[in-house]
Amino acid sequence: MAEADYYKVLGVARDASKDDIKKAYRKMAIKYHPDKNRGDASAEEKFKEATEAYEVLSDDEKRAMYDRFGKAGLGAGAGAGGGFGHKAYTDFSDIFGDLGDVFSEFFGGSFSGGFGGMGGRGRGPNRGSDLRYNLEISLEDAALGKEVKIEIPRQDTCDTCGGSGAKKGSSPVTCQTCGGMGQVRRTQGFFSITTTCPACNGRGQTIKDACESCRGSGVMEKRRTLNIKIPPGVESGSRLKVNGEGEAGLNGGPRGDLYVVTHIKRHATFERQGNDLLVQVNIPITTGILGGEIEVPTIDGKAARMKIPAGTESGQIFRLKGKGMPYVGGYGKGDQHVLINLKTPRNLSKRAKQLVEELDKEIREHQADYATTKVGF
Ligand SMILES: [Zn+2]
Ligand SMILES: [Zn+2]
Repeated sequence: MAEADYYKVLGVARDASKDDIKKAYRKMAIKYHPDKNRGDASAEEKFKEATEAYEVLSDDEKRAMYDRFGKAGLGAGAGAGGGFGHKAYTDFSDIFGDLGDVFSEFFGGSFSGGFGGMGGRGRGPNRGSDLRYNLEISLEDAALGKEVKIEIPRQDTCDTCGGSGAKKGSSPVTCQTCGGMGQVRRTQGFFSITTTCPACNGRGQTIKDACESCRGSGVMEKRRTLNIKIPPGVESGSRLKVNGEGEAGLNGGPRGDLYVVTHIKRHATFERQGNDLLVQVNIPITTGILGGEIEVPTIDGKAARMKIPAGTESGQIFRLKGKGMPYVGGYGKGDQHVLINLKTPRNLSKRAKQLVEELDKEIREHQADYATTKVGF
């Protein structure tokens, strides 16, 4: 085994970060991997060297020892002296696992005749995709809750073959490559790797004649109607998870979930902020002066009676406690805020005008607090 400097082997600087070291090793591992260079002894040697270097430099403790004392600092059994020994091989599986995604890429990709992916995604049973359904509802429905019917297109089990993927009259047969295990074990050199069977993609069964409706996939697009209960209090952007109503899984994997996302339509009267509501009520100026009782619309469709104290001004806000939006899954409700807008009446009758003129005279004579007030823009 070479006496080469570990840093030089990987082509990194002495102060290289762990990440750089990993990247450098990945590159070399892919380039010199024995599977890619069958029968090439120098490639195998380079691969072992790189692996040995990586094993030391990726371990803080070993790297520190190596930096101070060279290979002598590593003692026996850490790859030095004994070459690419048994111990190193055991550690190697860790590195291999760590680099799983890289290996999966090139085993699964360029090696069509080789083994499938290294675990990971792709081959075995796959969970179906989640679905998102955007649901627009009124503020009233959001306040009271509602049961709505929605229709979703989604991948579902094929009716023709019942999901087996096999043509009518035939049925899937046990995979000959893996004997129905769905996995194959492959040994080469010091590798021994269990991977998903490439012949059956992990199903353990293969199909001779594919179902014509689904071309052997076992799934097809279907429309499904669901009753969705919208709980009182939802907001724009609330997500309701409906378990197991997403797309069908592949190769026997479980179904994904459905997320219903609510969007609340703008309301003509009510403005919402969190669980509170705001409504503006126009009342005659005389009610503001004298005070009185008014009727205020509420989101539940009923109306609330509210007392207006004498001397109420435009812009004053009163609170109707507990008349706002309910808390989702909780108790109680927010409040309804009532913004008062005093309306000046126009087109007065002769008599009304007389009365107001009299009132105006009376007020001017007895009340003098109508001076100027400074305001900002
Ligand atoms: Zn089918
Ligand atoms: Zn198989």
